Amino acid sequence: MDALPVASKVRVTAIPGDGIGPEVMRATQQVLAAAGARVEWEEAVAGAEAFRKGIASGAPQETLESIARTGVVLKGPLETPVGHGEKSANVTLRKVFEMYGNIRPVRELPGIRTPFSGRGIDFVVVRENVEDLYAGIEHMQTPGVAQCLKLITEVGCERIARLAACLAVAEGRRKVTVSTKANIMKLTEGMMKRVGEQVLAEYPELVHEHMIVDNCAHQMVIRPEQFDVVVMTNMNGDILSDLAAGLVGGLGVAPSANLGDECAMFEAVHGSAPAIAGKGVANPTALLLSAVMMLRHIGDFDTAARIEHALYVTLEEGRDLTGDIAPEGEGAPTAAYVERVIANLGRESDRVPQRAYRPIALKKWPQITWYKAATTRELVGVDVFVESERDPRAIGITLQAAAEGSAFTLKMISSRGTQVWPEAAGHTFLVDHFRARFLFREPPKGDAVAEITDLLTRIGRQHRWMHLEKLQRFDGADAYTKAQGEG
Ligand code: NAP
Repeated sequence: MDALPVASKVRVTAIPGDGIGPEVMRATQQVLAAAGARVEWEEAVAGAEAFRKGIASGAPQETLESIARTGVVLKGPLETPVGHGEKSANVTLRKVFEMYGNIRPVRELPGIRTPFSGRGIDFVVVRENVEDLYAGIEHMQTPGVAQCLKLITEVGCERIARLAACLAVAEGRRKVTVSTKANIMKLTEGMMKRVGEQVLAEYPELVHEHMIVDNCAHQMVIRPEQFDVVVMTNMNGDILSDLAAGLVGGLGVAPSANLGDECAMFEAVHGSAPAIAGKGVANPTALLLSAVMMLRHIGDFDTAARIEHALYVTLEEGRDLTGDIAPEGEGAPTAAYVERVIANLGRESDRVPQRAYRPIALKKWPQITWYKAATTRELVGVDVFVESERDPRAIGITLQAAAEGSAFTLKMISSRGTQVWPEAAGHTFLVDHFRARFLFREPPKGDAVAEITDLLTRIGRQHRWMHLEKLQRFDGADAYTKAQGEG
């Protein structure tokens, strides 16, 4: 968004949420009002209250309509029922509005002592927010073996890499680190590495690098000041953004934004902290910092800076801090902390990092079905997943026999990714879930449905099969990986 014209107000959907949510929301709204933020609120419900009314998504229709109208949300924490059929209301909101980018600034705050204080930590974690294991596509493959699909798309990688680049440019940052597990997951995480590097090469003003994600976790603890912007797929970003928050004072003071083309949602990283809910002692800093991000998003840069300075002055002076950040036994109520921040509006702190914030120039992604064509496609075989309590040698004999007279030969069998037939790569622990790789004897014509159906019928006479994957080559390159130990 561009800078906000003077005197205009922006409508924002406020979801107070559960537990301490209403308290920290009220506190944040009080500070914004006192600072003269040009915001008009639309209150909406999500989370526990919605689940109680039987809304399984956790987000009522009126809430979705409010968000669709305003396009900007400030949200308190929402409780997620554990182990029931209900979906997380947070995930529902992110997915319904395709908020594909999660932004987590990681910045040292004055007065909040951590083992890393004084190191000048100031970076941003950009996490892909809707793909990867969080697509939530899970199946029990056998009664004892579960599977979760890790879905990574090229367009998803491009969107998040561009978002990271645009954010770096908007905040005057210099370096973007693409962090992946491409060394192990060559097709999924490898795609994030390849596409991320391609996209970032288009921004000559930015330095970019790749770092394996486990080393990135290590580097964040050893030398966190080296990072500027770090971009990751969903699961890696989820874990490392929490680790990063721990460097600068923990989840209780960590803000975040979820960005999409149509909607932006700002929220504290912490949850509903039910143990302290209703006691008037919750710390509103994380939601207040999220609101500062929101004000920058809507173009109210001056109010954002005023609040940020007042907050820094308050933290530096260390008076009326809430119990979680005050010295032992000195915690003040939320209301006293809020009063202190409001009293400090207009004061400036030289600890606030000097950044020439500009609106983020995000690319709009057309609402089409993204399709990537391949010039050539070959079908070379199938992986058939079978459930069996037999040993690999016996399974090999039965599957070879099944393939006799079919269009296929049995190439190998693996157990959890490691070849166990015709030779075993090592002392593989066996469970009742095997992948049998069959290759076509002759290149098939067309999509070979009849041949595949015939193979499945033959296999089905001896084994339960539960899953099939085609083995393809796109533009001459294998579109599948080899098993550990496969020749
Ligand atoms: P949590 O609510 O973040 O609480 C963990 C602990 O952190 C609290 O018990 C409290 O510790 C402290 N804390 C967190 N925020 C604080 C604040 N603003 N002021 C002071 N202390 C604070 O994590 P959780 O217990 O794992 O989750 C509780 C519920 O929140 C769950 O239903 C979970 O699903 C949900 N949740 C929602 C979101 C979200 O909406 N984005 C995020 C995370 C979790 P002490 O009381 O020990 O001091």
